Amino acid sequence: GHSGNAGARATAEAMHGFRGQLITADHADFDTARAVWNGAVDRRPRLIARCSGTADVAAAVRFARDHDLEIAVRGGGHNVGGTAACDDGIVIDLSAMRATSVDPAGRSARVQGGALWGDVDHATQAYGLATTGGIVSHTGVGGLTLGGGIGWLMRKYGLSVDNLLAAEVVTAEGGVVRASADEHPDLFWALRGGGGNFGVVTSFLFALHPVGPTVMAGPVFWAADDATDVLRFYRDVIAEAPDELGTVVRLGTVPPLPAIPEKLHWRPAIAVACCYAGAVEEGERAVAALRGFGTPLVDLISPSSYVGHQCAIDDTVPHGWHYYWKATNLAALTDDAIAVIADQAYAARSPRSYSAIFHLGGAVARVPHDATAYVGRDVGHDMSIDAVWLADESDERADAETAWARGFFERLRPHRAGVYVNFLDADDDTDRVREAYGDDTYRRLAQVKARYDPDNAFHLNKNIRPG
Ligand code: FAD
Repeated sequence: GHSGNAGARATAEAMHGFRGQLITADHADFDTARAVWNGAVDRRPRLIARCSGTADVAAAVRFARDHDLEIAVRGGGHNVGGTAACDDGIVIDLSAMRATSVDPAGRSARVQGGALWGDVDHATQAYGLATTGGIVSHTGVGGLTLGGGIGWLMRKYGLSVDNLLAAEVVTAEGGVVRASADEHPDLFWALRGGGGNFGVVTSFLFALHPVGPTVMAGPVFWAADDATDVLRFYRDVIAEAPDELGTVVRLGTVPPLPAIPEKLHWRPAIAVACCYAGAVEEGERAVAALRGFGTPLVDLISPSSYVGHQCAIDDTVPHGWHYYWKATNLAALTDDAIAVIADQAYAARSPRSYSAIFHLGGAVARVPHDATAYVGRDVGHDMSIDAVWLADESDERADAETAWARGFFERLRPHRAGVYVNFLDADDDTDRVREAYGDDTYRRLAQVKARYDPDNAFHLNKNIRPG
């Protein structure tokens, strides 16, 4: 209404000429603008400041500090704990800042802070280039990168943070600084794993590598009853795998994707999904043993467009469903760990719940552990147990799925080896931020936090307390 517009104009003036969109509860887009990926999160901010650029971000931060508003920063909105939203405070919303510009000769891309991985892949693949991003194209570059960034290309080209060359950051005072190896190196170190604690990143500069446009990629599915045998065989395959071969194991049901025969949809299954970051013929050889194992339900590994592969599972984890995650790293897939996984993975009641196990190693493990704030380079796997239910399902369903994830996680206790900070949920994971970083890295992060955000203005995240 009119009063809303007048209010927005007054706020924009108070924000030193903010040029983006200001969205309050009386705005028609309020409900879509405040929603995050996880439909179980329902927060009502006082103001959503959808920024049009760095100057808007700086103005919004200053406005929030001057008016003592709690700050949430929204990149892609995918954090399962819903830290991109807040009650009463301000959301500094980067979703209108999604541009990627590629320097093909310099093999780098400048990516705005609110871009999604699909935006980056689209832009970089036009030049046959890519950098390590997530495995779902609607995930944000911002949160994923700042927590580390694991994906198909990491074993060959390192984590997202290993490809980060520089970042432009709006600080807690509302100033703008550049962080790189030569400028604010302490901040640059902290940004590469320390999450959204140190400022709002308005642009990322990434190194790019030649990838695709066609890669050998896709999943092979086996029946759930074969899970133990498949996991043991998989362990042997990855022990010998070249860095080019990225794999993720997914235990759950066969998703009802158009590429998969309908008669298999929703059947309990184990999948090993692959992406070979190299020549297709080499990739063919690298996946031969795996796809030849046992009796697959369906084998969808094929020469695929890299961009297509990057969105292949987008629809299995859409916006608006309800999600609850429990995550852990696994040092290795021992027989005992495999026994727990095979026993627990199919105990979920919802056919949408699943667990995913990413294989690390390769280039990830070759970077010195103190070079960045990402912790867990030495583990074999990052695992996430993802309970999923629909918005209109009952509280009992929600409770049962949540209990499944918690129970599975408990049973894995003897095999746990830290946790990937980006897979932490809210509530009962708050105390696990220290576990994710370990004491030494946490202490170092706390010192950088004290320098760049001593008042902890940026605290809706996997929070590092200023130390
Ligand atoms: P948001 O919720 O917008 O951001 C999360 C937090 O990051 C914010 O609260 C804020 O503190 C901070 N933040 C975000 N952008 C900025 C910015 N520009 N400047 C400062 N702070 C910022 N992770 C992987 O590593 N690999 C994967 O393959 C992967 N797959 C996923 C698939 C799905 C479907 C989902 C839901 C998540 C996946 N993740 C993956 C986890 C992902 O890294 C985290 O959920 C991450 O928080 C998402 O970032 P975002 O920007 O989308 O989220």
